[in-house]
Amino acid sequence: MSEEKFKKIISHAKEYGFIFQSSEIYDGLSAVYDYGQNGVLLKNNIKEYWWKSMTQFNENIVGIDSAIFSHPTTWKASGHLDAFNDPLIDNKDSKKRYRADNLIEDFIQKIEKKLSKLIEKNRKRFGESFDEETFLSTNDRAKKYKAEINDLKSNLNKALNEENLDLLKEIIISKNISCPVSGTTYWTDVKQFNLMFNTKVGASAESATELFLRPETAQGIFLNYLNVQKTGRMKIPFGIAQIGKAFRNEIIARQFIFRMREFEQMEMQFFVKPGTQKKWYEQWKKNRMEWHLSIGINKNNYRFHDHDKLAHYADAACDIEFNFPFGFKELEGIHSRTDFDLANHEKFSSKQIKYFDPEDESKYIPYVVETSIGLDRMFLAVFSNSLCFESLEDGSQRTVLKIPKILAPNQCAILPLVKKDGLADFAKELKNQLKVKFKLIYDEKDAIGRRYRRQDALGTPFCITVDHQTLDDKTITIRDRDSMKQKRIKVDELENFLFKSFEISNWLK
Ligand code: ATP
Repeated sequence: MSEEKFKKIISHAKEYGFIFQSSEIYDGLSAVYDYGQNGVLLKNNIKEYWWKSMTQFNENIVGIDSAIFSHPTTWKASGHLDAFNDPLIDNKDSKKRYRADNLIEDFIQKIEKKLSKLIEKNRKRFGESFDEETFLSTNDRAKKYKAEINDLKSNLNKALNEENLDLLKEIIISKNISCPVSGTTYWTDVKQFNLMFNTKVGASAESATELFLRPETAQGIFLNYLNVQKTGRMKIPFGIAQIGKAFRNEIIARQFIFRMREFEQMEMQFFVKPGTQKKWYEQWKKNRMEWHLSIGINKNNYRFHDHDKLAHYADAACDIEFNFPFGFKELEGIHSRTDFDLANHEKFSSKQIKYFDPEDESKYIPYVVETSIGLDRMFLAVFSNSLCFESLEDGSQRTVLKIPKILAPNQCAILPLVKKDGLADFAKELKNQLKVKFKLIYDEKDAIGRRYRRQDALGTPFCITVDHQTLDDKTITIRDRDSMKQKRIKVDELENFLFKSFEISNWLK
């Protein structure tokens, strides 16, 4: 997808009330965004789709809503105070700051692109007889690209695993990786940068305690693990789900709502018996991919990426990557977190967190498999994938947001063909009947064609039109957003039609 298309996505999001730059009248606040009147509806629908799939479709998963602030020792125990760092590097000419690992990753992606172009060119040239594996192992240029990619990846992993900042800089210098703004390679050394925001609580400066804005929602779940287990009489395996804000002082915050400083996560921690974590990790990988596919976006837009470099708490980890407008990037993480968090909270709090397993009367700290998805990234995935520009048979153009119907901000629009002849009165009455059951829009301004276009651009799945025939035989037309086909049904059947279209269990099978 081109940069041009990405710009169109951002401007469409603004023009139709989905996403605004925060504090725009003061020229904006970098990497912070507000959701507008339609954005909040889409966002809430995504939340609900996730929340229900977790807490309603699984009997052994419950939800909580913990505070953004927690005792500061939380972050010592979780490792975030010591290890939640990004390696940063500055370009001395442009004065721009980058994540050193991202600069190298982008460089690797460039070579990967060159390699896939070469493969495609040769696939076309040789047609059916083309064998990718043979090509990769015999073509000199392909072999060179492949070796360079492998080399870079293994060096990058080594540098990150060993926290070797000099090696990171060495890779950047040896590959002549330049600043995208100044184009020069005049770099500072690489430094570690902690991503947590801090603030103070307390009446006076002397007695103030330093607090952190949570960089992930997961710790709120760990701190409440025992409360929920005991009061909910939960038996292992069981899960705790949570949706909430998280904050990270991201060094480079670009790519719209992909990387924000204030964002929302939907996380679920699944507590299992030690030794069974591998099985549950595989199970949750499968479940989460099925959830993504259930909303109907083409499966070619998703892929797994297994981690070579594991976070300080994990014994296995992967991402579900999505084909964003700027390429495949992380949408969701699935991590086998071992007993790292609970064991550390037990140690730092000196409180027993062990679970007594009635099955075999053993006592242990549970292991945890986590699924963690960024709500804003999910929003961007849905929104960017839905925006289409279509040329119609009559030569006109339409902009349509083909948002999966179950997530659409508004479910239908009620439109009288004209205001006069009692059509508006009939349509308003219909709106009043349906508005308590469905999220709908009433619109009587402009010609009907323009109103259809407006609803297309907002992603409204159905337009219900009240015309003169409606008054005669109590039928209305339903126009489908994607096919633009219209069908006439009885007004009495409308409610049932809408219920069926938006019944969540038809989607989350
Ligand atoms: P990245 O590598 O892109 O920085 P991460 O691996 O640090 O992400 P996790 O700590 O695994 O991310 O967080 C879980 C999820 O939270 C991510 O998959 C992503 O969807 C979301 N997320 C993380 N950081 C941000 C951010 N700055 N803005 C928006 N969403 C984010």
